[in-house]
Amino acid sequence: MAGETILVVEDNPLNLELVSDILEAHGYQVRQAVSGKEAVQDVEAHIPDLILMDIQLPGLDGLTVTGIIKDNAETAAVPIIALTAHAMRGDEEKAREAGCDGYISKPIDTRSLPETIRKFLDAAESPSKES
Ligand code: MN
Repeated sequence: MAGETILVVEDNPLNLELVSDILEAHGYQVRQAVSGKEAVQDVEAHIPDLILMDIQLPGLDGLTVTGIIKDNAETAAVPIIALTAHAMRGDEEKAREAGCDGYISKPIDTRSLPETIRKFLDAAESPSKES
């Protein structure tokens, strides 16, 4: 079922709009943050069901922000999917080490994005999830 809240953290305005439009078209409630600091503040104000996290952000980068969210017991269970630049080798590994639950390479495949999001939301909602 759609309707879940997804926080999109992305400093590139075009990517932010693109991803937000796709998610809204699929029935999700979208929240937006354009910096790491804004992301941390938004998560504290409203715990989302999933976070799409750009890694390269001004100020606090996406890995640092992921660490902050995963270190907080109230938000540790929120799935975080890293958005990694295709050219950055090793980004996937770094994202996993930082606590990201998955990653999507840029440029974002807009056709498979909704399915990927759904998969992570369903996994998070599944009762077989570690408690
Ligand atoms: Mn960026």
